[in-house]
Amino acid sequence: MAPLPPGSTVGILGGGQLGRMLSIAAARLGLRTHVFEPAPDPPAGDVAHRVTTAAWDDEAALDAFASTVDVVTLEVENVPVAAVRRLERTVPVRPGARALEIAQDRVAEKAFAAGLGIATAPWQAVESAADVRRALDRTGAPALLKTRRLGYDGKGQARVGRAGDAAGAWDAIGGVPAILETLVPFEAEVSVIAARGAEGRVVCFDPGLNRHEGGILRTTTVPSGLPAAVEAEAREMAGRLLAALDYVGVMGVELFVGPGPALLVNEVAPRVHNSGHWTIEACLVDQFQQHVRAVAGWPLGDGSRHSDAEMTNLIGAEADAWRRLAAEPAGLHLYGKAEVRPGRKMGHVTRLAPRRTGSGA
Ligand code: AMP
Repeated sequence: MAPLPPGSTVGILGGGQLGRMLSIAAARLGLRTHVFEPAPDPPAGDVAHRVTTAAWDDEAALDAFASTVDVVTLEVENVPVAAVRRLERTVPVRPGARALEIAQDRVAEKAFAAGLGIATAPWQAVESAADVRRALDRTGAPALLKTRRLGYDGKGQARVGRAGDAAGAWDAIGGVPAILETLVPFEAEVSVIAARGAEGRVVCFDPGLNRHEGGILRTTTVPSGLPAAVEAEAREMAGRLLAALDYVGVMGVELFVGPGPALLVNEVAPRVHNSGHWTIEACLVDQFQQHVRAVAGWPLGDGSRHSDAEMTNLIGAEADAWRRLAAEPAGLHLYGKAEVRPGRKMGHVTRLAPRRTGSGA
């Protein structure tokens, strides 16, 4: 595909805050966005050129959408693969159906990583409470039971401390196909935001150190403070995943560090990622610009980090403090969501400090 000239339209599947920030990034490069989102009044609707409100299985709406865009990308990974396959008949979709299929199923994801020689927590696919008890032989206890599909922010997960917990955990996740994983006593969680251009070049932003609260990302800090060799290995793993998928765009790769120097991939997100929001303030070219460049067939930009940064999510009513936050010397982002709900990501704030350590993209 030839690079899309300014004035072209990027279709985005999903209209949440990631679609909103992608639309802002696209506009800066003279590109328009057309958002396809089933829910009414999406956050991206304030800044996209156009919004289609329709269900993922509305084939007429998908066909009409495809006819108005030059390329399609996505900001959510739970778009049905059938919708992407339909769009792919008439318009390039970046990243495509294969990356989505793998990222949507924790078993496919782990098997894919294993095929590339990339380590994950020991795991076993399970389909019943009896399976969970048997799988403990492989994972050891404690273990974590996770639904294969549709889990996010720690939802659809239950801890299995011993064989006697199997039935309760199985019920807690709703008795659906799942994966049992060793509960890793990790020392840190990091993510690598990696971008691969249409010509195959991969660049990674500096790995960020992630802190979660109640299963939800609270802060991402760069530099991560991890040894350079661990950061280099994390980047290399991310690069291997993107190359194997012939991926075009930005991917978020979440990893566990430790015990010791061990690095395990936890999961991949085939899209821009919450743990990459710090790049907006701390890099010349941020994850959103990089993603738009990649899907539009443009050269990737310089994603090296010029400042130290900490991104903090504003969750639920925390965004009500916008007056105080706006008075701080920090980058404030509010997602325009009308309804405040507990656990809902309403915005984020990025605080910078002069760069002291760490490497560049
Ligand atoms: P996930 O939905 O897989 O990203 O899991 C959400 C969070 O649960 C992760 O960020 C970790 O903090 C924790 N977690 C997930 N899997 C494991 C595991 N195998 N061992 C320990 N903690 C985990």
